[in-house]
Amino acid sequence: MSLISTIIRPEILAQSSYHVPDAHNMVKLDAMENPYPLPDAIKAEFGAHLAHVALNRYPVPTYRLLKDKICREFGIPAGFDVMLGNGSDELISMLSIACAKPGAKVVAPIPTFVMYAISAQLAGMEFVGVPLSEDLGLDMSAMLAAIQEHRPALLYLANPNNPTGSWFDEADLLQLINAMSDIGLVVIDEAYQPFAPSSMMPRLPEFAHVIVMRTVSKIGLAGLRLGYMSAAPELLAEVEKVRPPYNINVLTAAAAEFLLDHMSIFDEQAHKLCVEREALIKELQSIKNVHAFPSKANFVLIKIENSEQIFKKLLARRILIKNVGKMHPLLTNCLRVTVSTPEENRLFIDALKATLLEA
Ligand code: PMP
Repeated sequence: MSLISTIIRPEILAQSSYHVPDAHNMVKLDAMENPYPLPDAIKAEFGAHLAHVALNRYPVPTYRLLKDKICREFGIPAGFDVMLGNGSDELISMLSIACAKPGAKVVAPIPTFVMYAISAQLAGMEFVGVPLSEDLGLDMSAMLAAIQEHRPALLYLANPNNPTGSWFDEADLLQLINAMSDIGLVVIDEAYQPFAPSSMMPRLPEFAHVIVMRTVSKIGLAGLRLGYMSAAPELLAEVEKVRPPYNINVLTAAAAEFLLDHMSIFDEQAHKLCVEREALIKELQSIKNVHAFPSKANFVLIKIENSEQIFKKLLARRILIKNVGKMHPLLTNCLRVTVSTPEENRLFIDALKATLLEA
């Protein structure tokens, strides 16, 4: 046995690293990014703002200004604060570290965002996935049974869910939240909230064990790497102890502080993307042998015969989407495409139609 394999934990040795495909020269529709760049009208002012950032200093450790703007812009309930992460990925990782007692488990409906399972396993916790129903909704009896059987420290509910785009009813979420009340924490991951009909954020004050997690990644700021979560102050104070000091760098903090004063730009873009999403779904549904699932996020899941081959043929046409067919049996023959500009959506649809004619 090599030194490395004796020192590194077996669960790490067994993992593969998170794969990000090469998107050079591609129409990039694989990662739920917002396609719109920052408008020219604010670029100069934005540049000047960043030019004044003190790069020689560590960030202000409280991030008070940034947090206040997040609380104001994203409807954090009065008396509640946020905790910041280097993307919500880091928040998930911090929650795992905070809760990873020996024997602690994490439950989530699957298929869902893969980092819940990866992060739990990296922290030494068992991840228990509860399959969604055939229509990609929550299987409530299986979820309630899993909560009773496994008594998880953490229950993740991504709403809308990735990669399915499913929207879970508030009544179901509340039932799961109630079932978890003496058992563990519930994380409502609202990464796609800007494209969704509602939010759990306003109801946060009703619960001591619920966390609402969000990110600025999907509204047009994926490159900043900034996630935030809110919860009862006593709970947030404990998780905060896990946060590495200065985890949000000065450029990210300064950029977000500036951009949060221009939120109408991102709100308008999210609105345009919702309109485009419905047009894309309609168009996909009109193509023979393609099934487009409903979505409340900025992406659409489609089911199509020979999806593997179609994915490769789209790649050859420089269209990069995400092949999720092997993620879970419920996703057999499924592909996920990010909603983009009308022009890029057209390129995708035309390439898909051409590919289907070839098949
Ligand atoms: N939650 C969900 C449900 C996601 O789909 C993603 C990104 N794919 C994230 C969190 C991570 O977002 P971030 O860019 O903030 O790390």
